[in-house]
Amino acid sequence: MSKTTTTTRDITSSLGNFELVSAEEKEQMKTGADWMPPHWVVHPVPESYDIAVLPWVRPEAGAMSLVGINVVDVESSKILPSMTVKIKAGKIVSISKSVFAHMQEDGWESINAAGLYLSPGLIDVHTHITAAPGGPPGKLVPTSEAETALKTTYVLKGMLFRGFTTVRDVGGATRHYKEATEQWLVPGPRIFQGGPIISQTGGHGDDSDRDVFPPKGLKAGRESYVADGVDECLKAARKIMMSGADHIKICSSGGVASLTDPLDSEQFTVPEIKAICDVVRMMVTAHCFTSQGARNAIEGGIGGIEHGHLIDDDETLKLMAEKGVHLTPTLIVQELLARPPYNAIIPPSSREKLKLVIDGGYKVIKRAHELGVNIAYGTDCFLSMQPCQLSEFDLRATVLPSDVILKQATVNGAKVLGMQGKLGVIKEGAFADLLLLTANPLEDVTIFNKPLKYVKAIIKDGRVVKSSVDGLKVEVPLI
Ligand SMILES: [Zn+2]
Repeated sequence: MSKTTTTTRDITSSLGNFELVSAEEKEQMKTGADWMPPHWVVHPVPESYDIAVLPWVRPEAGAMSLVGINVVDVESSKILPSMTVKIKAGKIVSISKSVFAHMQEDGWESINAAGLYLSPGLIDVHTHITAAPGGPPGKLVPTSEAETALKTTYVLKGMLFRGFTTVRDVGGATRHYKEATEQWLVPGPRIFQGGPIISQTGGHGDDSDRDVFPPKGLKAGRESYVADGVDECLKAARKIMMSGADHIKICSSGGVASLTDPLDSEQFTVPEIKAICDVVRMMVTAHCFTSQGARNAIEGGIGGIEHGHLIDDDETLKLMAEKGVHLTPTLIVQELLARPPYNAIIPPSSREKLKLVIDGGYKVIKRAHELGVNIAYGTDCFLSMQPCQLSEFDLRATVLPSDVILKQATVNGAKVLGMQGKLGVIKEGAFADLLLLTANPLEDVTIFNKPLKYVKAIIKDGRVVKSSVDGLKVEVPLI
């Protein structure tokens, strides 16, 4: 296997067509990469040099053809054998039956990918990217802003290395992280973020000291935002919108890790939830374990339920299917927290709660699927649990078939993000977020959890970040 054509990009192209360095120096700068950021500028600097340009922004992603590859059509659960998939400028531009082993076109790299499988990149819609390993238990934004941001760069690379080309953060991240990966300042997945969680006083997101009175009123932290009553809820939601959130997350029932709220406590009144949903007119999703918490949230106009492990009646699930309310169970985090070493993360008094939610998780994911609820892949792995992000595949595979789980981790997640047709599919016009595999994930979805064996290459936004495929060169290394 070899490539027949190559694209050469100007090393200074992100700064315009200025002769900042001589041709000889440009030649010396070529260290095997097609592009490198300009780390120095020769004096005198041309007057027309655009000082507003961000020097780390890369030239447009190149053009390449993956030839002879088996395309995984996740929507129909079928393989389209021996196809040529052309990608350019970060998008999929065409998919057609392969005729040759190579495409001979100027300006296009041609990769002979015969025998490999092409899957859409994975989507995890329940992550906490700022909860980096080594932080204190129970905290999503554990340290100073600077330390959090620096450690999060490690987390983001790890997620992309595991094949997650898109993640939704549901507590902790801000638009700055999203912009950093968009611009490739930090290699990482595409990020959808909702800023801090909104919680009622005493709810799952209230981490104030239970013995300190009086409460200090509306508290806007980086991790959670405590609000009570319609007016405070409106203010919190509007402030989060102002910060550039893609969605809003609230807590409508108790949680496992929080000390003072029983799992079956209902959090926020329906008018409070309704106020938030009405004012933002965007996706509002609720941390919620129970049927009653889910019903309150749905009545208030919520678009998604996170966890939902104790929803034990068909009526609530049918209502979710009917109203298009998404469900994101998170089996792996509960399994991990139930046993050493991770059980040290939660207080002993919370361990009883875990037994309930583990059993419930498997039941609800199966029944909700049978009743037609849109179920997405979510993990909630935080701190040192993050490397287990792929194990959710193994757990779901004990109750659901592989093709169903692959949908959950691709197209269903795209629905949650409002990105149907753009993410989670291999279609013309979709983002070129792709995984090249040595086996068919429709037959066994747990291959994703053996990435060194089965994941040969990872492409995000048309840029290769990992590859052991002949001729497919890594543009942005992750390690
Ligand atoms: Zn969470």
